[in-house]
Amino acid sequence: MDLNDQVAIVTGAASGIGKAIATRYIKAGARVVIADLNPDAANATAREIDPTGRSMGVAMDVTDEAAVSAGIAATVAKYGRIDILVSNAGIQIVHPLEEFTYADWKKLMAIHVDGAFLTTRACLPHMYRAGRGSVIYMGSVHSKEASVLKAPYVTAKHGLIGLAKVVAKEGASHGVRANVICPGFVRTPLVEKQIPEQAKALGISEADVIKKVMLKETVDGEFTTVEDVAEVAFMFAAFPSNALTGQSLVVSHGWFMQ
Ligand code: NAD
Repeated sequence: MDLNDQVAIVTGAASGIGKAIATRYIKAGARVVIADLNPDAANATAREIDPTGRSMGVAMDVTDEAAVSAGIAATVAKYGRIDILVSNAGIQIVHPLEEFTYADWKKLMAIHVDGAFLTTRACLPHMYRAGRGSVIYMGSVHSKEASVLKAPYVTAKHGLIGLAKVVAKEGASHGVRANVICPGFVRTPLVEKQIPEQAKALGISEADVIKKVMLKETVDGEFTTVEDVAEVAFMFAAFPSNALTGQSLVVSHGWFMQ
């Protein structure tokens, strides 16, 4: 399986998991657009993963309808098509529910859920026209399981599974598949930031946040890696038929078993 001649757009790809997915797709032969809030970081990532022009950065706030439209238009202008969307941009905010501000709730929901909607809606017409496409949402073990302090994140990540199922049903007759990747903890900036925050909120040490909160339920006490997640993203992108659609796959060292 490869992605030769395919065009992918990965949101939040200037860092962490998204960057690893973009790198994996380049290795598989795709052309890849790095869509991220920060245009300099997006352009630098594009140059880093492929200096020959098979990758470009676009500035995109996934919650901004006009910015999403412009980013998708720039992708099609440069590479002529869109075969793969990875809706990956995300943030984490941790508080007990009774202390969550409405502003923080809305911010997190907007990036994860509105961003998934806006990018999907912008890409589908291009995929439908071509008669093929793969939409991949970055869920989480928190698409299946809850943790304290993460009310909007858990709510948003569960919601992405519903969205993927609808896109799977509506997209089927156009050759478009939709699936969700559900990683366990991966040591990206998003997780590094949470370690001291959770230690403070739970009144435990940072070492205990890692051992007793993040990795406690895994089979081997290991973090999932960005490369592990990228491999699943490759499999969902390259899978050749509608047999694999509407699914969510957990990659978490056994933290959550279905
Ligand atoms: P990260 O912080 O390394 O990367 C997130 C990227 O998203 C950054 O480049 C950031 O600039 C970008 N971003 C943030 N808001 C944006 C917006 N409004 N528009 C466009 N880009 C935006 O984090 P990560 O860990 O790589 O997370 C990527 C995804 O993986 C997120 O959806 C996250 O919820 C999910 N996830 C992460 C883990 C983990 O343990 N790290 C586990 C499960 C799921």
